Amino acid sequence: MLNNWIAGVDLGGTTTKIAFVTMDGEIVHKWEIPTDNSNEGQNITANIAKAINEKIHLVGRTNDHLLGIGMGAPGPVDYKTGIILNTVNLGWKDNFPLKESLEAATSLPAAIENDANCAALGEMWKGAGNGAKDLVCVTLGTGVGGGVITNGNIVQGVNGAAGEIGHITAIPFGGAPCNCGRTGCLETVASATGIVRLAMAELSAGGPPKGELAMKFAGNGSVTAKDVFDAARNGDDLAKKVLDKVTFHLGFVLASIANTLNPEKIVLGGGVSKAGAILLDSVREYFEKYAFSSVKNSTQLTLATLGNDAGVLGAAWIIKNKLNKER
Ligand SMILES: [Zn+2]
Repeated sequence: MLNNWIAGVDLGGTTTKIAFVTMDGEIVHKWEIPTDNSNEGQNITANIAKAINEKIHLVGRTNDHLLGIGMGAPGPVDYKTGIILNTVNLGWKDNFPLKESLEAATSLPAAIENDANCAALGEMWKGAGNGAKDLVCVTLGTGVGGGVITNGNIVQGVNGAAGEIGHITAIPFGGAPCNCGRTGCLETVASATGIVRLAMAELSAGGPPKGELAMKFAGNGSVTAKDVFDAARNGDDLAKKVLDKVTFHLGFVLASIANTLNPEKIVLGGGVSKAGAILLDSVREYFEKYAFSSVKNSTQLTLATLGNDAGVLGAAWIIKNKLNKER
């Protein structure tokens, strides 16, 4: 059994990442397939089963080498039933029985979890968590995702919607519209999209282009979140102003979360976190300003270390955990 593998799947709207993982959390093989969300998502689990079947034979093993399959999916998940309540861009109708569909397609025991929660579990198991059992993970990507782990377990909430850190209100009045239908959520200021929106607002505020970011905007007609961090690193005033807004809201929200949970670590992941120290140091400054003193002294703010592998590793962890409990 120790030599067997489990499969971890990170389901995204355009690509699906798959990995064969040992019971110790080492990735043996990993690859990607396109996500086919046509026909109300009918092909998604069948394609994953086919990809796994082909790969296991390609690497000279048979299906019985796999003990189970775990999957992170973009949407709130009822962990007990394995039903995904709703998704935006996969084609599935509401309340899709994902676990059942995956088990039928692969003939393997399956476990399903929300993708941001999987990323948090991945970081806990093999990444920045480094053994911490009380952990909050914030994924700063196109949107902002969150996963809260207490005593080694994901906090699910009564309806699977706990840890939606991206939809904590950061700007109560006059905030920008959010994908969730409300306005002013953290996601509208701390995601890559939000950072670009804040930068564009500053850039179009007027005056002739001055400084690195303004020159880039004048040349390209647009800027990216990375442009903002690069320019801020070079001392560009406008970029620094945008960065300050982003990190104020993020630091403030994270301090409130830490005051509630006092986790051992808060891990910042996702594409935006690749900005590194310039982001982390500034968030930490505001975090320390708004955190209760004993929380400030004990909760550590850190960057994720697994990158794109966090999702598949966390997905593998949930099936491993489930198999261990059933044994
Ligand atoms: Zn929202």
